[in-house]
Amino acid sequence: MTQHSPMQTKRSHTGDPMLKKILTLIITIGWSCSVIQLTNAQGMGFGTGEGLPEFDITNLTGDLYRFRSLRHFGMFLVTPEGIILVDPTNSRVAPWLREQLDERFGLPVRYVIYSHAHNDHASGGEAFADTATFIGHENMRKNLMRPEENTPLLPRERLWDANQDGLIQQIEAEGTALENNFSQADTDGNGGLNRAEIWARQFSGSQIPPDIYYSDHAKITLGGKTVELHYTGRNHTDDMTVVLFPEERIIYTVDFLTPKRPPRTQLHGGFIRDWVESLHQVEQLDFDVISPGHELPGTKADVTEQREYLEQLVAAVSTGIDEGKNKEELVETILMENYDHLIEYDLSRPLNVDGAYEMLVSQYPR
Ligand SMILES: [Zn+2]
Repeated sequence: MTQHSPMQTKRSHTGDPMLKKILTLIITIGWSCSVIQLTNAQGMGFGTGEGLPEFDITNLTGDLYRFRSLRHFGMFLVTPEGIILVDPTNSRVAPWLREQLDERFGLPVRYVIYSHAHNDHASGGEAFADTATFIGHENMRKNLMRPEENTPLLPRERLWDANQDGLIQQIEAEGTALENNFSQADTDGNGGLNRAEIWARQFSGSQIPPDIYYSDHAKITLGGKTVELHYTGRNHTDDMTVVLFPEERIIYTVDFLTPKRPPRTQLHGGFIRDWVESLHQVEQLDFDVISPGHELPGTKADVTEQREYLEQLVAAVSTGIDEGKNKEELVETILMENYDHLIEYDLSRPLNVDGAYEMLVSQYPR
């Protein structure tokens, strides 16, 4: 796999603190916008089930679209001066998307915004690299760098390392997020995963590093249209961008906020207390509709539901830890019954408790 070093291969945005705080890119203000409708526009109500095309484009509203690669969704906004794309997703869908954009709009992709560095959403940018400027949160810089082989395991991973040899063997990976595809991840074939091999599972890939890194907020103006990038703190990752389309009143929340679905499985490498605070911040943004990276769009009420779900989860697990209960007892007793209507509740509820327990005992003061 090709590794990119953002520090070496791409210019980065630096500047005085005020400029860094609010980075505003004013590109040519275009006009004479003609609204282009796709012939296969399906509205917002389409699912992720079997029988649907592998790739698809759907109009959300006005000049704003979602595109899919099976269960993954990215977005793009068409302006008279070019296209602003969010998450190239992967190297299968990106060339297809480029062809579609050329055919349907005859406009180049001028910006690629990354939601975060994970390889299942941030790969494929090579299809747009000849015309686009890439933008992401500043924590993407470190997340795209492969750690040294002797980097210590993260605190949560050390909980799994029963024999304390600094590696996660297959038996130690059972029941963790490392269980699946273990042997493929063990690239040096020594029977255990080190920090670099664990990193590679989610971050190694063909991601083009950002040309521009921002810290708190950024704004792109192109062809008379505006897109805002908001950093709302750590959640599913520490480099997450909420993309806000103010005119359309829509936000893109990729993996950390999926309407009507709990966070996936053991909450991955997530930061659970910060995640709750991050959702509080999303509730403060001015929008009506959530377009996630998985599943169907939702509304602002789904942010509140997700925040309350995580708050209840954190409170219940923290209380259980204070009472001296172990993880298995908490998985059996914290049922979150008020949320049994959520998608994949049966799958995610026990694994969410498991993940919350591990994060609370390993990373955070309670
Ligand atoms: Zn992700």
